[in-house]
Amino acid sequence: MNIHEYQAKSLFQTFGVPVPQGAPARSVAEFDTALATLPEGPTMVKSQIHAGGRGKGTFTDGYKGGVKFCKTKADAREIAGKMLGNTLVTAQTGPAGRKVQTVYFTVASDIKKEYYLAILLDRASSRPVIVASTEGGVEIEKVAHETPDRIHKVQVDPAYGLADFQVRELVFKLGFNPAESKNAARLIRSLYQMFWESDASMIEVNPLITTPDDRVLALDAKVSFDDNALYRHPEIVALRDLNEEDSKEIEASKFGLSYIALDGNIACLVNGAGLAMSTMDIIKHFGGNPANFLDVGGGASKDQVVAAFKIILGDPNVKGIFVNIFGGIMDCNVIASGIVEAVREVGMTLPLVVRLEGNNVAAGKATLAQSGLALVSGDTMADAAQKIVKLVA
Ligand code: GDP
Ligand code: MG
Repeated sequence: MNIHEYQAKSLFQTFGVPVPQGAPARSVAEFDTALATLPEGPTMVKSQIHAGGRGKGTFTDGYKGGVKFCKTKADAREIAGKMLGNTLVTAQTGPAGRKVQTVYFTVASDIKKEYYLAILLDRASSRPVIVASTEGGVEIEKVAHETPDRIHKVQVDPAYGLADFQVRELVFKLGFNPAESKNAARLIRSLYQMFWESDASMIEVNPLITTPDDRVLALDAKVSFDDNALYRHPEIVALRDLNEEDSKEIEASKFGLSYIALDGNIACLVNGAGLAMSTMDIIKHFGGNPANFLDVGGGASKDQVVAAFKIILGDPNVKGIFVNIFGGIMDCNVIASGIVEAVREVGMTLPLVVRLEGNNVAAGKATLAQSGLALVSGDTMADAAQKIVKLVA
């Protein structure tokens, strides 16, 4: 789950990570109340969408810049009016862009130098890793590619936590002066504490800045959380903004289905995350393109299967469906009954290839055969994948 910059910065504050003073506004009526909380002077206006690259983004009406520096609060008020309700396209939004439904006003900081700082989960080592660079405010991928020596990494042993010597090493490598070093070290420790205690999967601060009076501040904040740990963080779940999420993914989460929209045309309905991934692979292998990742889980009910069908059919790009079930805990007949009910209910006419194997497979196959539905059976995973790729071609 992702949150907005203004929400992330509010969490930063509760963990003692310094940020510029700011206030969000969701409507023109809220502009004045938000601005009233800030001192007169240079003010930033920042579009709140779940995507980065806002500063260099362009609105669909041609207005340039989703993050703007303004000399006065009056200017900031005017610029906010251009952003709110407008659609912002950045390198990360895709061409359709994102509608700005909240703007964030902050006191503009005087920047001495910009840095990059992130904490994320390194899957290769199964440990949190802190990534930092003296090259901030720019695309980190570009820095990694062109000047990899300017990126510093510290792996944290989860059993011991972040050690002081690791923080000192990082701060030293970034070349802070003594006063900045003290502030930077405190900020890094607080940020790590937040990462750990809130079950974040990523915290990215780009840029982290130093000011002429040696303060160290998080000027931007991008935070995502591990969905599997959200149950123990109701205060974070409350920050969820459904406007920023794919409507099909929201619907899927209501039914306990793991669904991720992709841009191909073969919808997949699978039980088990590993099988779902290999199903996408085998579709690709035979020259097709998956429209989604969908794991109905190990013990899906008929209702969940029906819901899953409706969700995948809600994607206009879908030209065919591949149901790939290995019944371990799952009863193949439950899936078969779900398919029959769903196809009848939604009146589906797209090609459907079903591969069933495992627990109660004979009954499942009989249910499908007796239903009279025009579906194609696959004997093996490879056979079924080839059939669906051919049918949508
Ligand atoms: P992003 O484009 O989505 O990454 O949004 P950021 O919050 O990172 O803002 C984009 C850029 O605007 C930053 O990299 C900074 O260079 C600049 N910026 C943001 N806040 C301030 C500020 O308070 N003062 C100044 N001078 N520049 C800022
Ligand atoms: Mg940024």
